[in-house]
Amino acid sequence: MTPQGPGTTPQAGRMPEMAKPRADVPEACDGPVRMCVICRERAPKATLTRYVRDAQGNLQIDETQTHPGRGWYLCSNPGCAQRFAKYRPGTRRKGESNAGK
Ligand SMILES: [Zn+2]
Repeated sequence: MTPQGPGTTPQAGRMPEMAKPRADVPEACDGPVRMCVICRERAPKATLTRYVRDAQGNLQIDETQTHPGRGWYLCSNPGCAQRFAKYRPGTRRKGESNAGK
């Protein structure tokens, strides 16, 4: 039994949408921002460690962050480093465009 009369919904105390401050967003756009492949946390590229694959397919730290090709970024979280040790990149299709946004 559903009442079909209009205006019968009890919506008395509708709260205005409050803008919650987001605590987990790092400070504004200051240089390029990359995402940690493990926790997907975004951080300035300069604070992340970039890894690239060598000829054998092993991940190596790209200290200069300028190595050509696909790179993986890792944040400074120790937990991420542990998980990244078992991380196996390359499951995605080759030629994936780096479209971003
Ligand atoms: Zn991370």
